[in-house]
Amino acid sequence: MATQPEPCPYCHSTQLHLVHHLCTHAVCCQHCGACGPSERRVEKAVDLWNGVAHGFNHALPAAQAGR
Ligand SMILES: [Zn+2]
Repeated sequence: MATQPEPCPYCHSTQLHLVHHLCTHAVCCQHCGACGPSERRVEKAVDLWNGVAHGFNHALPAAQAGR
């Protein structure tokens, strides 16, 4: 199923961009440059980005993003 990324939790921009890095994907904000965790699957990357957007109080540190 297609999951839409939530607006950027930092600047509330909806100008989000899927970045491909080798074999991983991440959602990045084109406005402020914030990037979500990198994941092998696009859906998962969007999912994690949405997790950051929803739980902004405990934004994902890189260590947790590696799971
Ligand atoms: Zn932003």
